[in-house]
Amino acid sequence: MSYPVLSDDEITQKLLPTINQWCLCNGLLMYPPAFQSSPNSATVAPITIYPTIIPLSAFKEAVSVQTIYNELYVKVIQDTEWLEIETEKLSRYDLTFTGRLWDMYLKAKKIGIIQKLELGIFRNDFLLDKGEQQQIKQVEFNTVSVSFGGLSSKVSHLHSYLYKHELYGSNFEGCEIPISESSKLLADGLSQGVRAYEKQNQPLNGQTVVAFIVQDGERNVFDQRILEYNLWEKHSIKSIRMTIHEIHKLTAKNDLGGKLIYKPTNEEISVVYFRSGYSPQDFKSEQDWENRLFLETSLAIKAPSLKTQLSGTKKIQQLLTEHETLSKFIDTEKIKKITPTFVKIYPLDDSELGQLARKLAFESPENYVLKPQREGGGNNIYKEDIPKFLNSMNKSEWNAYILMELINPEPTEKNVILRDNKLYRESILSELGIFGVVLFDNDRILYNEYSGWLLRSKFSSSNEGGVAAGFGCVDSVALL
Ligand code: ADP
Ligand code: MG
Ligand code: MG
Repeated sequence: MSYPVLSDDEITQKLLPTINQWCLCNGLLMYPPAFQSSPNSATVAPITIYPTIIPLSAFKEAVSVQTIYNELYVKVIQDTEWLEIETEKLSRYDLTFTGRLWDMYLKAKKIGIIQKLELGIFRNDFLLDKGEQQQIKQVEFNTVSVSFGGLSSKVSHLHSYLYKHELYGSNFEGCEIPISESSKLLADGLSQGVRAYEKQNQPLNGQTVVAFIVQDGERNVFDQRILEYNLWEKHSIKSIRMTIHEIHKLTAKNDLGGKLIYKPTNEEISVVYFRSGYSPQDFKSEQDWENRLFLETSLAIKAPSLKTQLSGTKKIQQLLTEHETLSKFIDTEKIKKITPTFVKIYPLDDSELGQLARKLAFESPENYVLKPQREGGGNNIYKEDIPKFLNSMNKSEWNAYILMELINPEPTEKNVILRDNKLYRESILSELGIFGVVLFDNDRILYNEYSGWLLRSKFSSSNEGGVAAGFGCVDSVALL
């Protein structure tokens, strides 16, 4: 029922030797900053010492709405006309990124998007509102480069191991400490894409590979490698890795039908899996944008396609909280299940709702977070900073943002964070992510599955919880 009460010395003596060796042995790891000069110097990933207690009912609800959310986003992506109209509007106000992706999408359409199948690897993020209901509230729906599916399985495994070996004493009694199957289920999802491609196209060498498109200097490599090794172990599917800067050197399109070939080994790529390309910083030159376009117009299945990536903007999330919009895509029964997970999100345009939001942002900014169309953490403007920020811009630029009600989760002081071999006892907040995978084309959904979960915790004193960015850590759940 409760957390262990151990002093730092007790944790250091009784738990850390086991935790460190378990992590090193099982790959619950991350690279330290500037690791390139010593590539064998991985360290234990930032984690919590204990799982965090979460109400079972809230957890179950988050899991149970995943396939509905998956379907909703597929329906949005399949409604090309609606998505294009909304994205085109948005692209005018956010030229640096949404605008570039949109432009790339238009170019791809002109050249011809020959692969109709798409793979969506999603993560739906929630905070638990501290009201009486302890209702889960959606933070955001991610449609590109979702991370920690690998490490989440590891950290939940570690916590379960410590619990079952009674290193937590008799604490957490009555709780379930489950293991997130995300590392297996996400690999299963990727394999669905590979097999669908192989069925659709005769592979040149009888088999195909998955291309992980990664960032230069990625510290969270092990999280990705875990998926890669599961693809190999469980599905006999090989993976290759490359950055977006290398695509023009390492790949080519086959003359017949635009098959994507990995030149060094002459292997055929069936699925392009993006673990980069979600932020403008990922594109360092015009060549990188060309490379993104090159992949989009190849026969390989993209995870995600540009269109799927563009469906994940905060703007689309805002539009989907409107009942009228939502009812275009899913039936009443499903709408009823997901609407309790919404908080109010407003546009900042000159519509009626936008006018109201413009007032709220200045009159009661303490209740809101202002979000641009960006991913990866560290981009939002909070509370009292909002008015000053808005005033520093031209009013027409406000259209590139959405205003979202703040969710108020209950912090806990009882967990302990382990980062760089140091223990931190601070009040933390936890964000629950649910993974989902879909395989679909213009009008069909061939696969729609829940694919595991993730709990990330951060100091409640910091507004954002990026693990790699240094604000947060990977955690797991003790369900009560
Ligand atoms: P990103 O795509 O950059 O991850 P998010 O929408 O997830 O953007 O916002 C980043 C972080 O900001 C979240 O992980 C959460 O900690 C905090 N946050 C975002 N929206 C809210 C909200 N409505 N209420 C409370 N915290 C929020
Ligand atoms: Mg995001
Ligand atoms: Mg987020």
